[in-house]
Amino acid sequence: MANHETEAVVLKIFDHGESDKIITFFTSGFGKITAIAKGAKRSKKRFVGKLELFNHLHIVFADNRYSSLVRVDEAEIINPFPALRSDYQRFVCSTLASELVLNWTAEHDQDENLFHLLTWTHGQLTKNAPQATLLLFQLHLFTLLGYHLHLSSCCQCRVAVDSSRNFSFFSPKNGLLCSPCAALAPEKSSGGLPLSLGTIRLLEKARQLTVDKWPRLHFSKQSLNETMALFQGHNDFLLQRNILSWKELRAL
Ligand SMILES: [Zn+2]
Repeated sequence: MANHETEAVVLKIFDHGESDKIITFFTSGFGKITAIAKGAKRSKKRFVGKLELFNHLHIVFADNRYSSLVRVDEAEIINPFPALRSDYQRFVCSTLASELVLNWTAEHDQDENLFHLLTWTHGQLTKNAPQATLLLFQLHLFTLLGYHLHLSSCCQCRVAVDSSRNFSFFSPKNGLLCSPCAALAPEKSSGGLPLSLGTIRLLEKARQLTVDKWPRLHFSKQSLNETMALFQGHNDFLLQRNILSWKELRAL
């Protein structure tokens, strides 16, 4: 057994047997890890109030080369983000952020930028407009994952985005097609998603902003709805599976 320590965010947690819990963490030093917390259901001191969804922790864990499951031995709270569990909208948005990280990462694949993006997002979700914050998280997540959405011009004819024609987002292109190109595209059977000029400009601007400038952006109702449809569809296309919490987010 080797002992390690790292900062970690709780992505998922469930009871295991009489007294244990199984927790999936995203950590700064080791990427995604799955851990067993022995006696966590009964422990009055060691883990009480610490192993909760979304908590930002400092953990000590032990691994061995015979199992992918590590054993968490200690946890100290860095930030508990209580507002994420007491407000339904914030809860849904934080759950979706967790679900995206769960689906987009492999175990032990370290990504410190993603860890910082996740803890920053949880912090913003406690105080700022939750849906807009979640969408900004998703936009930056795509970029971190290497999917730099092409939103400044048509992917086919390169005409710049302006009000002279309509633009739709096509997932197989990872970007926009103008209406004349969309009419000719073999992808048209998969159906592009029409986006308003306001939404395209907002997303372009958002991508250029560092996370500390996020609170300056305002999403109109139309931009929120278009962006949610865009990101839900693009996730489904890229992952080839449905992320369940999008449905709850869009119902808010
Ligand atoms: Zn075009």
